[in-house]
Amino acid sequence: MTQLVLKPGRERSVLRRHPWLFEGAVERLDGRAKSGDTVTVLAADGRALGRAAWSPESSIRARMWSFDPNEIIDDVFFKRRVAAALARRAALPELAGQQGLRLIHAESDGLPGVICDRYAETLVFAFSSAGADKWRNAISLAVQKATGCTRVYERSDADLRTLEGLGPRCGWLHGDLPEEGVVIEEHGVCMEVDVVAGHKTGFYLDQRENRLLTRTLSKGRRVLNCFCYTGAFSLQALAGGAPRVLSLDSSGPALEAARRNLARNPQLDATRAEWREADVFEELRALRAAGERFDLIVLDPPKFAPSPAHAERASRAYKDINLNAFKLLAPGGLLMTYSCSGGVGIELFQKIVAGAALDAGVDARIVRRLTASADHPVLLDFPEGEYLKGLVCAVG
Ligand code: SAH
Repeated sequence: MTQLVLKPGRERSVLRRHPWLFEGAVERLDGRAKSGDTVTVLAADGRALGRAAWSPESSIRARMWSFDPNEIIDDVFFKRRVAAALARRAALPELAGQQGLRLIHAESDGLPGVICDRYAETLVFAFSSAGADKWRNAISLAVQKATGCTRVYERSDADLRTLEGLGPRCGWLHGDLPEEGVVIEEHGVCMEVDVVAGHKTGFYLDQRENRLLTRTLSKGRRVLNCFCYTGAFSLQALAGGAPRVLSLDSSGPALEAARRNLARNPQLDATRAEWREADVFEELRALRAAGERFDLIVLDPPKFAPSPAHAERASRAYKDINLNAFKLLAPGGLLMTYSCSGGVGIELFQKIVAGAALDAGVDARIVRRLTASADHPVLLDFPEGEYLKGLVCAVG
């Protein structure tokens, strides 16, 4: 088998079980390998460290499949990895019975570049690395067999793929769209999931647990949900007993889906909900000028900083919305504020939110720290896997 030989000292991260090998760590390739092929990884002194997928076009030149240099990477290997990922979720009672569930969370489940989300009986895959792309059939078959799901959609259209020299690939691998569309129930609320054109694989599963918290905090509170997408936080706020829920998003189609979602749930009082197509940066100012006040504000913006290089501009954007949200809170109000930017760590995020509170002239304290749901595990040796962070701040 082709061997990837590392530069002296560069075996250290592999020995710590970090799954990425950057271009600068690679001394040479002994033999030939095509994009996605499996190579054996050797330290400079010839010691075998494991097996990896070769990706000649990416600055992440190889991603480790296994830290056992004797492990054979074949269909059976992927079956084992898939079974382990499913077992990890089955062991967590809080995930039992969830219709929307992330079954495979890439590197943190030992499958770099592989995402698999289950929405009721539909599986959605996103393959974003050369190795994942090469083994897509073996992986999707293994999950299909293990779950019994008969509808499988591939959503391999993330920008990341271009860095790996891969084009987009989307389509049904098995079965097709159910007549009634893909619908899941989350905490007793029905939500449609647009697996073909929605964001990510169609839905933000990572916020599942945080939405439940919103629900429990919403009783009697006037809620403002910024960046509402298809209304998942808004509907939980209504279910929790909010007397008013104003939801903002700049996407017309997302708001249409949100309205359909509300209509799907006749148990919720639709007269308490208002959807507004608006730019959050502008609308927060307009609401303030109009003298509006809220008791709970959710800020769940898109990724402002995909990498640390964008951190400065992103910081200004986060500060702006958090500052204006603080100004809109009534005394005793709560701000649930998130960042899903890999380029902004929790320490920086907390600093930004602290600066926003200071400039808004409010006295605020953190009452909860939030992260992604338990079906989005983070491998201890792979902090890059942790992207979502949230703070619940109480003012006054
Ligand atoms: N909270 C949602 C997910 C939010 S995704 C959930 O739990 O499902 C981010 C959303 O922000 C997208 O729907 C996008 O359309 C919207 N968005 C992006 N920039 C915006 C802006 N400047 N103003 C308003 N909405 C924006």
